[in-house]
Amino acid sequence: MKSGDPLLEEGGKGGAGASARRRYELDDRGFDEVPVRYRRFYRRWGGPEDALAPNEALCPVCKIVIRSSRELRPGDRLYCMACMTRLTVVEGESGSLEARVVY
Ligand SMILES: [Zn+2]
Repeated sequence: MKSGDPLLEEGGKGGAGASARRRYELDDRGFDEVPVRYRRFYRRWGGPEDALAPNEALCPVCKIVIRSSRELRPGDRLYCMACMTRLTVVEGESGSLEARVVY
């Protein structure tokens, strides 16, 4: 985890033929529960009305939004530094991405 990006490992759909993932510039949203150099990878969730960007996933444990510098896809592995939980990205019923805890 040298870069600090919460995207630990890309899911299986990232092989040949898959479209390139978009990259995102992250800004510091003032999330102060992790060390300064990791702050831009997290932000507080604004509740159900807070739509997540394609590079964001909500941690189901601590309800913090995890932000990657890359677009997220099903099968991706994430690490939430705020609660030290490993997560996997899945496609939710509504078609949006959701994060599930890896036990
Ligand atoms: Zn968390």
